[in-house]
Amino acid sequence: MTAAEQARVDELDAHARAGRTLPLRFDAPRRGKPPRHWADLAPDERRGAVTDAGLPPFRASQFDTQYYRHANADPSTWTDLPAAARDEVAERFFPALLSPVREQAADEGTTVKTLWRLHDGALVESVLMEYGVAGKRSSGSGRRRATLCVSSQAGCGMACPFCATGQGGLQRNMSTGEIVAQVVAAAARVRLTNIVFMGMGEPMANYNAVMGSVRRMVDDIGLSARGITISTVGLVPRIRQLTTEGVPVTLAVSLHAPDDELRDTLVPINTRFPLAEVVDAAHAYFRTTGRRVSIEYALIRDVNDQAWRADALGALLTADGRGAHWVHVNPIPLNPTPGSKWTASRRADEHKFVRRLNARGIAATIRDTRGREIDGACGQLAAQGA
Ligand code: SAH
Repeated sequence: MTAAEQARVDELDAHARAGRTLPLRFDAPRRGKPPRHWADLAPDERRGAVTDAGLPPFRASQFDTQYYRHANADPSTWTDLPAAARDEVAERFFPALLSPVREQAADEGTTVKTLWRLHDGALVESVLMEYGVAGKRSSGSGRRRATLCVSSQAGCGMACPFCATGQGGLQRNMSTGEIVAQVVAAAARVRLTNIVFMGMGEPMANYNAVMGSVRRMVDDIGLSARGITISTVGLVPRIRQLTTEGVPVTLAVSLHAPDDELRDTLVPINTRFPLAEVVDAAHAYFRTTGRRVSIEYALIRDVNDQAWRADALGALLTADGRGAHWVHVNPIPLNPTPGSKWTASRRADEHKFVRRLNARGIAATIRDTRGREIDGACGQLAAQGA
């Protein structure tokens, strides 16, 4: 890490410790665009791009196979490409978008967090979690799966006070290529089954790049849309837009409170899109796609974890004749961020919260947290440097 990067990292860190509250930001400060990459090209743009470079059009499907199907991002190793053409192809279509800065492992090596440097020095993280690995108890039991938690922005402008990323502010949006590159890097190591947009950033505030990356994941890499989860603070117009895409991803909404008064403080965007509108848009997503919506709820001791709030949450979700079967609530114990005045709920309160929801017929399971000790758990990503 360079001195300038270290300084930026220290600044973010100090910011998080001070528990500063930031203004909401939608427009990322302007920075140099990342170089255009093969992954930025839609299928119908690829053959033209290849012929523009003076190559025969069939190279396009060869590049797709190497990059997406074989998860090989390094043309210098592509033996089906003439050796003399490899450098130029690499330079023109496959510039390195992510350089690994540091890797940290936990849970017997089944959780791995990677800190990446982008072309302009911005830092982002992704977290790979393997489940059901034989002989590794901390990977849990059950079906073998591998989930990658990806970042969609460097930093985040949504300013949620309990989230480490939110405390650092927004640096910039990531490109489709930069989002896809995280997936391809992980796919080179394991067979991925799930992607969650729960790393750094608010995916709905970078909608086009995120949807572009989802299309690459589904159409090119071959992941199931159902296995991809987009998590949002609740940008209502974007939830409505997602409803029309015809790509049945899983929608997760970070609710964290059943009443506007409290949610205004925990998820500041609530002042613009209040709960009733968010829940209505989420339910419309379910009606159109048939996909059950996940409700994220970080349980914060004595702040949002009271039994009456569980009841209020249940009432909110089932109001207006919506019933209980369109949602799955995922309470997650708060991962306290440095300097935070808040802490995780008591175990007994967590269980009571879940029982109160279950009593109304609402499915709710406490989400397991992986990689806490490497600051790789939800809300802990703040790109502290090496
Ligand atoms: N911007 C998106 C994705 C962010 S991270 C969103 O807000 O949904 C994914 C989840 O982690 C969100 O539900 C977020 O609220 C939650 N989270 C953030 N900070 C957390 C923390 N300190 N402890 C537990 N969960 C947290």
